[in-house]
Formats: sequence, structure tokens, C-alpha cells
Amino acid sequence: MKNNLTIYNTLSRKKEKFEPINPPFVGMYVCGPTVYGDAHLGHARPAITFDLLFRYLKYLGYKVRYVRNITDVGHLVNDADEGEDKIAKKAKLEQVEPMEIVQKYANSYHRNMAQLNTLSPSIEPHASGHIIEQAEMVKQILKNGYAYEVNGSVYFDIEKYNKKYNYGKLSGRKLEDLTANTRELAGQSEKKNPFDFALWKKAEPEHIMRWPSEWSDGFPGWHLECSVMSTKYLGEKFDIHGGGLDLQFPHHECEIAQSKAATGEDAVKYWMHNNLITIEGQKMSKSLGNFITLDEMFSGENDLLEQAYSPMVVRFFILQAHYRSTLDFSNKALQASEKGLQRLFKGMETLDKIKPSKESSINFKDIKDKSFNALNDDLNTPILIAHLFDGIKIINQLYSGDETINDTDLTDLKNFYKLIVFDILGLKNENKGQKTDNKFEEVVNLLLNIRLEAKKNKDFETSDKIRDELNKLGIVVKDKKDGFEWEIQ
Ligand code: ZN
Repeated sequence: MKNNLTIYNTLSRKKEKFEPINPPFVGMYVCGPTVYGDAHLGHARPAITFDLLFRYLKYLGYKVRYVRNITDVGHLVNDADEGEDKIAKKAKLEQVEPMEIVQKYANSYHRNMAQLNTLSPSIEPHASGHIIEQAEMVKQILKNGYAYEVNGSVYFDIEKYNKKYNYGKLSGRKLEDLTANTRELAGQSEKKNPFDFALWKKAEPEHIMRWPSEWSDGFPGWHLECSVMSTKYLGEKFDIHGGGLDLQFPHHECEIAQSKAATGEDAVKYWMHNNLITIEGQKMSKSLGNFITLDEMFSGENDLLEQAYSPMVVRFFILQAHYRSTLDFSNKALQASEKGLQRLFKGMETLDKIKPSKESSINFKDIKDKSFNALNDDLNTPILIAHLFDGIKIINQLYSGDETINDTDLTDLKNFYKLIVFDILGLKNENKGQKTDNKFEEVVNLLLNIRLEAKKNKDFETSDKIRDELNKLGIVVKDKKDGFEWEIQ
């Protein structure tokens, strides 16, 4: 297996060579959405970032188990472990059952993710389906002395944990700073320290989502589900844990503490965080009125949008920035991405029209090498895309006849573009009338090759049937001296 991949580990704050714990297997856990509303731009970035990594690791030959959770319980409106559950609140508003909210928004999230051409994760566990396992972890942490029970709720004892381990090592925060920041809250809550977080919360009488436990009828704290479900499906130590930078603190910091307190081990080898999307320089939020859902992006139905942007334009826009850089949304930037994507596909269509010569006057190895080097350098997609555009300049020279390419090199070049653009970057040519994807093209060519055989054997009944049936589907076949051509009408 040829693997030169390096990834930036948020924990060590440096790029590290990617070496899985148990090759060829790779375990990857990514924090998924809390499903209480429509998916928005902020959901698209982690989904696309880790889809790219999933695709690339599979291309490198790894057997990847990609787990992405659905948060359907325990995520409260307030980070201080107070207030309503986000899903229950929405359910009250819409006058339905909480699980109807979960189903509705999980469905729409999946629809949007499919539009963005992200591959489904290998396992997509729901927090509400793992209450027993979560209670088990609470027991373990209590047994090890890093949690305490008050009035039917169980809280993680950060001060005690920090005496032995280092709380804050992922985000770089110090307990003293946390103490200073939360001092005014002290005494208002049943927690020993205001920065302690809930592992199990006793449900208030009006709280709908509740489960029996030895402490109270209640529900697990939000951070717990990821510690539990990641290790349940990937083992006590696994390779990659990803998510948006907004989850680094407190969510991921708390996950690290929980796992360490329960097992004494660090569960995760590489922590990866994608940076956030801003809208014209501002954080996207409902209160600022600059909130754009993915459905609105794709339809153009939002006052901030000058036009609709297709899912592939959004995907390309996200890939044009490095995942660790902030990405600022603006109509101008999206329109530039739309033009860029069209230029990329036009280049690939030109590539399909090039006729091979006897000799190659050009050498593509350099562009190929540089492209893979960019991917291996912590998934540097902007540099990779720049190399693809450099390649298109050469493709145009080949098409105009200024340069030549032989048959083998031409096939190699076509395969390289298909591999990078379709399989690894996960882009699709959405334009109607185009051969939209790899597999489809291969199937049509397969049928037409069977037709060619039939014609050779004078089986005109079969050959006409294939042509006519394809015609009915809008695929027009033109016979050529040395084969065939086809297009979609
Ligand atoms: Zn999580």
C-alpha cells in the first residue's frame, strides 16, 4: 500500500504521517448533526471534508469504517447543562412527537448530503439507541471516581480529573481560565464547579425525552454519546475523530476526558477539525439573519442569494479552500466557483475529444505527482485543483494540435482526471445532455460494444433493438467507421 498521507493532528498541533493503528483497517468517527432543523451551509463543510478523506483513504486501499452519529437526545439549548432539549423544543413548536422531528430532519439531512454527493457512512448510530451503553459509561466513570451524583444527576468532576490528567489539552485551555470565566455562575447550580458537565441529567417533570436509570428518570449528557458510540463501533482506541472547529471545545474536550476517565486510555489517535464558514465575514447565525439552509442554496430562495447554486457548485466552493482555513461565503465567491467548475468539466470534455498520435510531446507525470503530493499534504485541495487547471491548459494545447499524445498516455490522462474529479473530489457533471457519471457512461459503452459484436455477427435484430431502446431513453447512437459515438438529448 503506497501511503504518503500526512494529516494535521489538532491534539499535537502538527502534521503527522498517517499510520493507522491496525492497517488495513481505519476507524473514523465524525460528529454528525443534531437533527432539529434543516441542514445548512455549516453542515455541508464537515460532511464534504470527511467525505473527501473517506474517499481518499479507500482509494489508498484502506478498509475504512466511517461512523457518523445522529444526535437525537441530550443536546440542550444552553451549553451550561440547563434548559430544554433542542429536539423536544422543536417538537413542542411543531406539535409532534420528538422522534417525528428526528425522523423528519434526519431524512432532509440525508437528502441534502446525497445531493452534495457525499457517500453514506458505514454506520450511523442514534444517541437514543444507545442509552444503556451510555449509562454503563457513567457507572464506569463514577466507579473510577471522576464523577459525582447530586439529586439524581451525575456530573463529571473536572477538577479531580485535572489533578491526574490534563483537561484542556485539545483546545489549549487551562482550568484556571475556565474558573475565572465561570466564577459568576458559581453557587447558582448543584454542580461542584460551574465548568463541570452533565453525564446524566435528571429530567424535570415537563421533560419528555427520558429513560429510567439507577440515578433518576433522565437522559444522558450530550458529550457522552460520542465517547460511547465511537468506541462501541471502532474499539477503545481508534484512528480518526473529526468534526467542525466549533465542537473542539467543550464537546471534544469532554469526550477526551470521559474516555480517559472511563478506561485510562486516549481513545483517538488523530483529531481533525474543519474550520467554519462565515457569511461576508460574519459568523452564520439565526439571530444575525444571515442563515442559509442547503435547500435555499440549491433553490436560490433566500434574500441573501442572487441566484441558485447547485449542490456541485457548493461542493466545489468548499473544496477550493483548505479545510483548516475559514471559508467566507459571498455571491461573488460562489459565482467564481460556478465558472471554475464549468471550466474544469469543459476541459474534461475537450479531453474526451482528443485523438491520439503516435508520439507524446508532453509529459503529464509532473502534474500527476504534484496533484497527489497536494492531497497527501493534509488534503490540500486548493493546490490540487490549481494543478488540475494547469493540466487543462495542456489539454487545450493537445486539442489544438500544438502538442501530441499517444494512445497509452491519453488513456492514462483520462483515467487520472476521472479518478481525481469524480472518485476522490466527488464531483459530478450536473449539466443536462452531458454524460453525467462514470458508471453510467461505462454501462452505455458496454451495451454499445455488445451491439457492435451483434452487428459483426449479422445479428441485426439485437443490434437494432439496443439502438432503439437506448433511443427511447434519449440516448442517441451514431455509428462511426471505427465504432460509435453517443450523446444524451
Ligand atoms: Zn460528537
